[in-house]
Amino acid sequence: MKILAILYHGHKAAEEEPRLLGTVENKLGLEDWLKSQGHELIVSASKEGPDSDFQKHIVDAEILITTPFHPGYLTRSIMEKAKNLKLCVTAGVGSDHIDLNAAVDHGIQVLEVSGSNVVSVAEHVVMSILLLVRNFVPAHEMIERGDWQVSDIARDAYDLEGKVVGTIGAGRIGYRVLQRLVPFNTKELLYYDYAPLPASAAEAVKARRVEDLKDFVSQCDVITVNCPLHEGTRGLVNAELLKHCKKGAWIVNTARGAICDKDAIAAALKSGQISGYSGDVWNVQPAPKDHVWRTMKNPLGAGNGMVPHYSGTTLDAQARYAAGVRSILENYLSGKPQDSANIIVGLGKYETKAYGQR
Ligand code: NAD
Repeated sequence: MKILAILYHGHKAAEEEPRLLGTVENKLGLEDWLKSQGHELIVSASKEGPDSDFQKHIVDAEILITTPFHPGYLTRSIMEKAKNLKLCVTAGVGSDHIDLNAAVDHGIQVLEVSGSNVVSVAEHVVMSILLLVRNFVPAHEMIERGDWQVSDIARDAYDLEGKVVGTIGAGRIGYRVLQRLVPFNTKELLYYDYAPLPASAAEAVKARRVEDLKDFVSQCDVITVNCPLHEGTRGLVNAELLKHCKKGAWIVNTARGAICDKDAIAAALKSGQISGYSGDVWNVQPAPKDHVWRTMKNPLGAGNGMVPHYSGTTLDAQARYAAGVRSILENYLSGKPQDSANIIVGLGKYETKAYGQR
């Protein structure tokens, strides 16, 4: 059986650190095991355009392994060429780089390693909220420059205590963010999600659901985005919605870049409508060198906490999602049922409600 994995190059770091499992070099730790079973494993980072390894090998692969950190975009037209493809496995969480509707139509199953990196991301969200609210990045940059002017930083630094924080999406990550924010004594924790939290879970974090998105953002000092990318969330945070935000709100998006409109965010930050934007996900990955989110700033020259896509790929997370990929493959190869929590698209239908209301 031919298995194709599209991963990112780890270069020297991956040679020095074998726990960087999600790299081309370390192959999710699958190589010896799959070879010993007589399977062919092709691993490459080359994913763009008709001459890429991705498009060359997808035509006869039975299993495709991809990762959100270096997404191999499996479009409907590429899927149509993939005559043997039966299973897509996402090493991580978030399978929006695969055209899920097309997978339904083609009877291709899509599984991800649900829960594998949700704590990793939730921790990054809390860090990102704090670094924006406390104006951390320009403070550190000032120190590296050799300067020392406390007032330039303190003029836009606040406490998280007493602020209203809301999450768009209160699933595994969104809920863990709410849990981690409880000890900060925020004024209120809010959430916006078409799936209400169980009453006991909402009560445990004292989170209040707001059903209208404009109403929701108008109440938040901090908005954190934690829903999957799908037809209903692409461009959800756009110029129109940003007008309804509290002036000077902070936004953290570690979900998917395309949930926020690139240019609308940059414009809102530039004008001061929002004070800060932080996250690790981009509308195109790797982000081009001139991507406006790399350098955008608020009127005080601050408010940018962007990093490359790594919140869900800590070494701890990589161990979990590599083990999860192996277990999905073991089930598939031995004909055992998959863990239902991991199935995004089953045979001919969605098995999750998280990728949009249908
Ligand atoms: P989850 O399925 O547990 O929760 C998603 C929640 O979003 C669900 O409660 C769902 O009802 C809600 N939702 C869906 N559409 C919505 C909408 N239109 N409005 C409001 N809420 C909506 O998923 P999760 O494990 O919490 O992960 C969420 C997303 O985070 C993933 O799909 C992925 O895109 C992203 N993620 C990023 C990283 C990273 O490294 N940056 C890592 C893991 C996951």
